[in-house]
Order: sequence, then C-alpha cells, then structure tokens
Amino acid sequence: MSDRIPIAGPSITQREIDYATDAATNGWYDRAGEYPRRFEAAFANYIGVKHAVSLPSCTSGLHLALAAAGVGPGDEVIVPDLTWIASAAPISYVGATAVFADVDENTWCVCAESVRACITENTKAILTVDLYGGISDYAALRAIADEHGLKIIEDAAEAIGSEFDGRKAGALGDVAAFSFHGSKTFTTGEGGMLVTDDDALHARVMQLRDHGREPGDVHFNNTEVAFKYKMPPVAAAIGLAQVERAEELVSRKREIFEWYREALAGVEGITLNHEPANTKNTFWMVTAVLDPMLEWPKEKLMAALEVEGIDSRPMFHPLSSLPAYEGHAEAAVARKRNAVSYRLSPWGINLPSALNLTQEQVQRVAETLRGILGVK
Ligand SMILES: *Cc1c(COP(=O)(O)O)cnc(C)c1O
Repeated sequence: MSDRIPIAGPSITQREIDYATDAATNGWYDRAGEYPRRFEAAFANYIGVKHAVSLPSCTSGLHLALAAAGVGPGDEVIVPDLTWIASAAPISYVGATAVFADVDENTWCVCAESVRACITENTKAILTVDLYGGISDYAALRAIADEHGLKIIEDAAEAIGSEFDGRKAGALGDVAAFSFHGSKTFTTGEGGMLVTDDDALHARVMQLRDHGREPGDVHFNNTEVAFKYKMPPVAAAIGLAQVERAEELVSRKREIFEWYREALAGVEGITLNHEPANTKNTFWMVTAVLDPMLEWPKEKLMAALEVEGIDSRPMFHPLSSLPAYEGHAEAAVARKRNAVSYRLSPWGINLPSALNLTQEQVQRVAETLRGILGVK
C-alpha cells in the first residue's frame, strides 16, 4: 500500500549519495581509511569526546566496551530490564551475568535506586540505556558508580543528540556505543560507533577490534585472540554526511514529537515520552503508554493500526520475560522485582517516527488513534 506510514526510516540527501559515490569510486588502496577517519573525527567532535571508533554495529561496540573494561566470567553487569536485547546480549558474550534493574516511571530509563539495590560484590559495571532518546538521572548514577568503583557503559544507540545537564549522550558514561542501523537517528545502513575520553580503554579497544594487533602493526603479529569489528568505507561516507547534518536531523526528531504532542493534546489516558528539566530528549521513537483503563494492550492496538495502514512497534518487553532468558536465575529475580517495567511494557507502543514523516501523516496517526480508542 503506497500510503502506508512506516515506523522508521532515514533522511538521505544528495550529500549522502555524493559521499557514498566518492567512497565507492575512490575509497580503496591507501585511501580506504579516509571516510572512516573523517566520520570518527566529526562524530567525536559532535558528541564532545576524545575518541570515536567506527564499527559494524552498536552491539559490537558494547561487546568491545565490556571486553576492554575487563568484564568477564564471574562478573555482574547491571542493565535495565526494559530495553532491546542488544543492550544485554554482549554481557553474555564476555561470559558475565546480566542483572536486570527496573526503570523509572517517567523517563522509562534505568532507575538509580533500583541500580543501587542490584549491586553485589561481583558487580563490575552499570550498562545504562538512553531509551527512545530519553535520559536517566546520570548525576545519581555517577554517584553510585563512584561510590562502588563501577564503570558506566552507556548504550546511546537511540539517543544521538540527547543531553543531560548540557552534556551529550555518549559523553555521560565512561564509554558509550551508538547505532547507525537503518531505523536510528543517523544511519549508515548498519553501523555503530564507540566513544570514550579514556585513553587506556581506547587503546585496548583498538587492539581488541582488530584481532589483537597493535594499531599500525604491519607484520601480522597478533598478540591475543580477539575480534574483528570495522565499518566499511561506503557506510562511513554516509555516516559523515549524516553527522554533518546533525542539527537538522535532531531538530527534525524533536519537531515530529511536537507534532504528535499537539495532535494528541487533551487525549485522556495517553502518556508520551518524558523530558526532565535538565535534559534534552531527541525522541528516537515517539512512544505512547496507554492507561490500562482504556483496555488496549499493545498487541491489539498494533493490529488495529496495521489495518489502517499505520506501522507501529511494541514497547520493549522486559528482557527477563523473554524466552531468551528463561533459564537465567537473574531473570526469575527480576520478574518479581521490576514492577515498573512490567507495568509499562504491556501498554506501550512506538508510533511512526521516520525522519521523512510529514505533519499530515502525524495528524492521520493521531486521528486514527483517537478513533480506535474512542476518545476525542
Ligand atoms: C538499535 C539498538 C541497539 C543495537 O544496535 P545495532 O547497531 O543493531 O547493534 C542497541 N541498543 C539499543 C537500545 C538499540 O535501540
């Protein structure tokens, strides 16, 4: 159907096409590293950090961050229950245990008090997630991390351009990872970026991401068994164009959210993404949590929107509820503990949030939603 409203999608202009064409034409031999290096420099500058490492995905960035931080078997990493599984899966890759903390009622991001309650003598790191572009109380999280000597690993996949106290997402943890999957605020098709201010951690990442070779090693002298995580030049060329358009893309996300806010104003029982006073939310996905009194669980609402040609997505299921974690002892504990995640998730859906969405389309989504819910 041609007038289907997609859930997500990028903004691609002549700039992305020109850079990609240039990379495909010239980004070989001694010039193969040019676009990755330019993308990394521009991205580090945009976030306000020292180091940026371009990667094939955000998942690989979180894997490298954990490995470089020395997290391994016997260690525990605290991660919010309400997130995409990519936040937690890398904890298993390094042989550590994911401990699922609850989220805050308003920001839907990991709650500092719940994190505190999850700390044991085995805790090594807090893996925060800037869910849907929202931001946790990083002042409280930093205080807890400092008190217990923990690293903060920030999953900023959904939060390009978001801020806490004037600092950008990605600069809030000790190390952070971004995603440039086709649905994200900047895209390279598939791709990711690890960022950090920590020189030693950066050096470790550079070695681990290239099969245990020292950067610049030309003698194939592998010093350990490690990983191979790099971004192709054509993808980096598209990414460079996206970061050069950062202000435009981020303001577009905020504009789309404003359109929804206006179009759904006065509708009882719908809560949209929250933006606490000292933060900037970039609304990667405009998300509506419905009052259970409306009796529209997410699957049923998605099906009703689908019939009207509107794509939506379910709010993430608590990870501890997924078959993937069925046998995990920590998941059983989390199912009892994480009341907020379990209360929000059944009633939340992501609304169409593609960068090319028009205000007319947002109005159509809002009217359809009002019609389905039978609210004015
Ligand atoms: C998209 C996403 C990821 C994973 O990104 P990939 O680039 O697909 O690896 C990780 N965490 C969150 C919260 C995401 O939304």
